[in-house]
Amino acid sequence: MAAKKPYTLIGLVVSVVFLLYLFLGDSNAPHKLAGRRPSKEDGLIKSYKLNNLQATSRSFNNKEQVLVLTPMSKFYPEYWENLLGLSYPRNLVELGFILPSNSLGDQALKQLDAAVKKVQTGPANQRFAKVTILRQDTASLESQSEKDRHALSAQKKRRSQMSLARNSLFLTTIGPATSWILWLDADVVETPVTLIQDLAKHDKDIIVANCYQRYVDPKKGASIRPYDFNSWQDSEKALEIAAEMGDDEIIVEGYQEIATYRALMAYMYDAKNDPHLEVPLDGVGGTALLVKAAVHRDGAMFPPFPFYHLIETEGFAKMAKRLGYQPWGLPNYLVYHYNE
Ligand code: GDP
Ligand code: MN
Repeated sequence: MAAKKPYTLIGLVVSVVFLLYLFLGDSNAPHKLAGRRPSKEDGLIKSYKLNNLQATSRSFNNKEQVLVLTPMSKFYPEYWENLLGLSYPRNLVELGFILPSNSLGDQALKQLDAAVKKVQTGPANQRFAKVTILRQDTASLESQSEKDRHALSAQKKRRSQMSLARNSLFLTTIGPATSWILWLDADVVETPVTLIQDLAKHDKDIIVANCYQRYVDPKKGASIRPYDFNSWQDSEKALEIAAEMGDDEIIVEGYQEIATYRALMAYMYDAKNDPHLEVPLDGVGGTALLVKAAVHRDGAMFPPFPFYHLIETEGFAKMAKRLGYQPWGLPNYLVYHYNE
């Protein structure tokens, strides 16, 4: 099984690092950015006080550093435009991508590379603090058609591969100054421009937006429908199903074959209700998921193996809970997935 494969990163393809203070002079000098820089720097030794590193509801004012991480099998121009539209200051944002090592990944890399170069060689005050692009050294499914990806039989293998990709990505890019990690899928094409601030404002260790999809209803015209079913609250029934399962079996959400009776955040959306309503969750999806870096630093990762019969982002929520962190969701705060 892929999970047993030793993790080695072979494909560091491009790493574009722009230290803004080199360009902008002293006003952005490292020591002036609160709580996120070396507290002592003497030649070869850098020491960081992680206790002073904050991730707070005032992320923007505190100049907290955010790492936006995206596993990417396909480059969507709409994703990139949306990312460029986010209003969080770019000098506080690092980007990290991981692409599969197949022809799909080659194609996405070309487009991503061109898009990144355009921004990072443009005006200095428009550049991201750092951009890292990785290639996977682990397997990916050959077919990425929606039908094949979503077949129940493919879920364990596919999501195990996704876990390995996500783990490689955050373990390679997280730095001593990272306060927050925003997991943002490559096919999330529309979010509020204040996505990062809005999620951070809740000051939760883990918080996930509700991922919907725009479509055209033959009768009603332009409509929206739920897309991501991985954010949920557990049910007695799901726990019973899990208790009966073999060690290596997983329980996945959103399939008629398995009636879990979990309360799915996808169905809690109420257009008339407060967009900042918070609900506690037991499972989370990764389409637009903000995590305090401390949670990952404590060791919460995406299990590529069944962990309490859960895998990938749902397994991550479980592992974080076991570490003492509570995941939350915002049922009325919508982001939109591409419609294939
Ligand atoms: P779905 O929307 O739940 O069907 O999942 P996706 O297929 O959209 O995958 C989630 C995220 O991972 C998206 O950003 C994809 O572009 C990306 N992705 C999908 N498959 C792979 C893969 O094999 N390797 C990498 N690195 N990323 C992938
Ligand atoms: Mn997707």
